[in-house]
Amino acid sequence: METSSYNPYRVAQSQFDKIAAVLELDEGVRQILRQPMREYQFTIPVRMDDGTVRVFNGFRVQHNDARGPAKGGIRFHPMETIDTVRALSMWMTWKCSVVNIPLGGGKGGIVCDPHHLSMREQEQLCRGWVRQIAKNVGPVTDIPAPDVMTNGQHMLWILDEYETIVGGRYPGFITGKPVGMGGSLGRTEATGYGVIYVLREAMRELNIPLAKTTASIQGFGNVARYATELFIRLGGTVISIACWDQGDKTSYSYRKKNGINLDELRSISDKFGGIDKNRARDLGYEILPGDAWIQQDVDVLLPAALENQINRETVQKISPKVKIIVEGANGPTTPEADEVIKQRNIFVIPDFLANAGGVTCSYFEQVQCNSNYFWEKDEVLSKLDTAMTSAFASVHELADQKKLYMRDAAYTIAVSRVAQAVRQRGWA
Ligand code: NAD
Repeated sequence: METSSYNPYRVAQSQFDKIAAVLELDEGVRQILRQPMREYQFTIPVRMDDGTVRVFNGFRVQHNDARGPAKGGIRFHPMETIDTVRALSMWMTWKCSVVNIPLGGGKGGIVCDPHHLSMREQEQLCRGWVRQIAKNVGPVTDIPAPDVMTNGQHMLWILDEYETIVGGRYPGFITGKPVGMGGSLGRTEATGYGVIYVLREAMRELNIPLAKTTASIQGFGNVARYATELFIRLGGTVISIACWDQGDKTSYSYRKKNGINLDELRSISDKFGGIDKNRARDLGYEILPGDAWIQQDVDVLLPAALENQINRETVQKISPKVKIIVEGANGPTTPEADEVIKQRNIFVIPDFLANAGGVTCSYFEQVQCNSNYFWEKDEVLSKLDTAMTSAFASVHELADQKKLYMRDAAYTIAVSRVAQAVRQRGWA
């Protein structure tokens, strides 16, 4: 969440500047990469169910497309800002690059709270968003996907409106579509599973047996649920989960020291990833303050909610027992907190590597749509595992060889590839 002292775009730029200096990038390449190539801001009028018209603000930012069409999610969030979208679009560029898929970086958003919108109003919002931007996005220019508080249904409304505008069927325009409507099997699981594929590899490198480890997770949405499922399936124990409580307008951590039961928590959660407090208490969960998840004596911390969650204050609360932080969310750690983590020698799997499973599977979805041939789920997940494992191995190898912090190694690989594409295209 954005606070007055936290600006995710400044964070993304300062991370880039640091790597640009290390790589000794020339000024032209730096100027191209430290800001988005194109940004769009627009209004979306929606006739609400009560007959009034409400005007929403929408964004689309294309950070860089030197390696391929821009790619990135569309978020619904009441506190969405252009700077958040800019930062996320830049992180998408590095994410696609670090897993070596031929796509660039983009991101979009609408300032809204879908909790207070009917399905019809959400449909109008999705259709209105693409009506404003249809000329500037498309299967060979910029390909959206679901993100925070958006899902396959939202994508299908956007696709349907886009196809109506341009005339024809372009299933490769948008990813995260429902299966049977151009979606890929495995996409729902992809980000969360990808997080655990790289965590598994990290534990192998660090000689930590996954079966004996504990984790504490922030978030109970798409990423967190599938990460939890696979982590438990591989033998790990998740002792606490934190999420947002819509009624109380605050977050809580739900703890069971001998391990949470995923099915149980799923059965008392809503579709936005909130958990029913009273029912959780009845099931024996301790209800703790929102930031208690970060204070647990666990081996692994997995932030999978929002940006800026491990910051100057919360980083001090991390237990000395924590060995690995695997960043499921985008931008969960501020630069100040990152310095503390580095000094404490905690092994970090940075966001744009850890959560790249989603975009990698979206790329598989495009490939399947373009060839009009859809793979079995096992094939998708096995290709995903290979891609994530290989990306982790490249980053870890560089970190090992050059004695780099994992985040710096991941940035070095990602930025170098994009800088090379920029130079090869003759842009700088
Ligand atoms: P989601 O909307 O499905 O779930 C978000 C979860 O975070 C919910 O459980 C919500 O209750 C919780 N949450 C929100 N505010 C909170 C707060 N202040 N404290 C504690 N919990 C809070 O979202 P998601 O798709 O799981 O995405 C989570 C993160 O992962 C985001 O940063 C997103 O950008 C990133 N991400 C998602 C994908 C994807 O494929 N879904 C891919 C890459 C990155």
